[in-house]
Amino acid sequence: MEDNVLRLAGEQTIAIHAGEFPDPSTKASAPNIVMSTTFVADADAGFSVEGMEEDQAWLYTRWGNPTIHQLEQKLAALEGAETAVAFASGMGAISALLLHLLKAGDHAIVSDVAYAALSELTNEKIPQLGISISKVNTSDPDAVERAVQSNTRLIYIETPCNPLLRLTDITLLAQIARKAGALLAVDSTFATPAATKPLELGADLVVHSLTKYLGGHGDALGGVLLGSKRLLAPLRKQTAIRLGGVLSPFNAWLILRGLATFPLRMRAHEANALAVASFLEQHPAIRQVVYPGLPSHPQHELARRQMRNFSGIITFQVAGDGRQQASRFVDRLQIIHYAVSLGHHRSLIFYLNTADLLTTTFKFSSPEQLASWRQFAGDGIFRLSVGLEDAADLIRDLQQALP
Ligand SMILES: *Cc1c(COP(=O)(O)O)cnc(C)c1O
Repeated sequence: MEDNVLRLAGEQTIAIHAGEFPDPSTKASAPNIVMSTTFVADADAGFSVEGMEEDQAWLYTRWGNPTIHQLEQKLAALEGAETAVAFASGMGAISALLLHLLKAGDHAIVSDVAYAALSELTNEKIPQLGISISKVNTSDPDAVERAVQSNTRLIYIETPCNPLLRLTDITLLAQIARKAGALLAVDSTFATPAATKPLELGADLVVHSLTKYLGGHGDALGGVLLGSKRLLAPLRKQTAIRLGGVLSPFNAWLILRGLATFPLRMRAHEANALAVASFLEQHPAIRQVVYPGLPSHPQHELARRQMRNFSGIITFQVAGDGRQQASRFVDRLQIIHYAVSLGHHRSLIFYLNTADLLTTTFKFSSPEQLASWRQFAGDGIFRLSVGLEDAADLIRDLQQALP
């Protein structure tokens, strides 16, 4: 698709056409998978990535590959980003971002509740490199401002955050980051570009786990960083290519295929989630439901401002014992799988126990942080990723598995 057509195109057209082109030799309309790890080179091709140009011919798949490139172009178009770098997983993207932007002596502010592996990485491994980390409830902009230091290089947020579905105001955080001379990175995996475009709101970098909504079918791990060429061209050379956690062309192809229906899927996820959340909210065995699309969400106003789509993840607490209910779900659910992960066409549910997570993952530094966790999660929550099955079937499945 030519740039001038792309500029006018709607989201569903972009999802189908952006980044793709018919194969020049076979004229195949659908993207093919180029699995080759190496490419026949010219005699003047360089051997070090140091001299690599943005538009140079393919040389080695860790440096770049036609199938991965098509995926990166499509993701950049969907996010409204100048460029994208794909990784083998969301954590591959996140660890590359941290290792690229931070060095010994730097300071970063990281959301006190965020994806478990990122939280654990910044509890231990990253501080061991001489990088100091402050865990802050980023839904409180004053707390973020108070945590800024002269050596703060990065503010890292997740909105809605995993697993609480607590939101952070990206526009406000972008202002704080700019004033501090720091970069703002947003993990937008839960929101997706169908809901929120963090770069338009002032963020410098966007992170997605492609394993979730963007791939959408639970059959391919992947991750991506999106932003300006100024930030990402050196990151690709110095960190993605040299650390080597790049995406496989086969996964790139699966995710490309999943992306064709991405905007349609998000509308269906949202409609299903709203139906299931409303059902749960009136069920006597349920203590509390958290979903950004419900007026009862403590930040519903911000959700309406910042999310064009409320996405498909719900959390809820049961009135009785959470662990017992988890066993009931494992035994009784017929359609919904009791499993981790989210954003798939299949509905998934998993129980997250507060006491366990506070010992393994989330290290709160103030009573306010713990109180905010408890406001959203109490002693434990079920995280339900509402899939694309018929809403009535999901509701019936939950109904027969609740007391
Ligand atoms: C799943 C997830 C990740 C990590 O992605 P992987 O592809 O599993 O490495 C990061 N952030 C969020 C919000 C996630 O849900």
